[in-house]
Amino acid sequence: MKLIINNLHKQYANGVKALDNVNLEINNGMFGLLGPNGAGKSSLMRSIATLQTIDSGSILFNDIDVEKQPDDLRKQLGYLPQEFGVYPKISAYDMLHHIAILKGLEGDLKNLVNDMLQKVNLYEARKKNVSEFSGGMRQRFGIAQALIGNPSLLIVDEPTAGLDPTERNRFHNILAELAEDKIVILSTHIVQDVIELCNDMAIIHKGQVRFKGSPNDALDMLKEKVYGRMVEKEEIETIKATENVLSEKLIAGKTYLNIYSESGGKGFEAKKPDLEDVFFHLCPQA
Ligand code: ADP
Repeated sequence: MKLIINNLHKQYANGVKALDNVNLEINNGMFGLLGPNGAGKSSLMRSIATLQTIDSGSILFNDIDVEKQPDDLRKQLGYLPQEFGVYPKISAYDMLHHIAILKGLEGDLKNLVNDMLQKVNLYEARKKNVSEFSGGMRQRFGIAQALIGNPSLLIVDEPTAGLDPTERNRFHNILAELAEDKIVILSTHIVQDVIELCNDMAIIHKGQVRFKGSPNDALDMLKEKVYGRMVEKEEIETIKATENVLSEKLIAGKTYLNIYSESGGKGFEAKKPDLEDVFFHLCPQA
């Protein structure tokens, strides 16, 4: 499996350049697309999923030109949006059955639907209305509707918002298992999700790809360039004026500053960089 994105541009009618010459090559496995809110992640996901048009550039999935053959892409696509909006008063079984028909799936749909409900651990709840599901159950139902028909490209947009830690773990396990023989793109602003799940990733900011590689490559980039120390409140503004501050963290009521320095971070202690440092370095907030 291979997804190749070339020179992709997308500008909205209000003038916002959401995608500014995006180039990416994505192979089998879990790919993390990391970026702050407004970076362009959803715009990219929606373009790949044929939910919106692009201005220029191309998206190729294996030998499918996504813009020219959207129907061929859709047959191989699973899309898990952030929110489904309204949850209808219809049983999980009936709704999934309906979705299977909408996707054009054929054969023994009863079996297909029941198997999928088993897989996401909702079989026991199959007769319950989706509208009465908890957040975690809804998420699992979302996975079921995305996965039914066994898509080879799965797009997951900001998945873990609203999940408790146990549900989040379970969700991560399902994704990791799936990714073995397909492409799973996980779009998120949560650095930890990418660390836990992805062996390949990109960081996007202001519509541009700022980094592409493995999380380890990302860490190597900042090797011996991150420093930190506890600071007094009064010092913060002065330090910000002279140093490249990556992040400010409250630890037991005190502030800890992380800075980026190529010249040894005088007065600060050397720190092993983490992916969050890379994120803040590449996506500075105005
Ligand atoms: P992310 O998913 O990373 O939060 P988005 O792709 O949603 O980013 O948004 C990228 C930029 O495009 C933002 O500035 C956002 O406000 C803008 N944007 C997104 N969708 C639209 C739209 N339909 N019309 C106008 N601007 C939009």
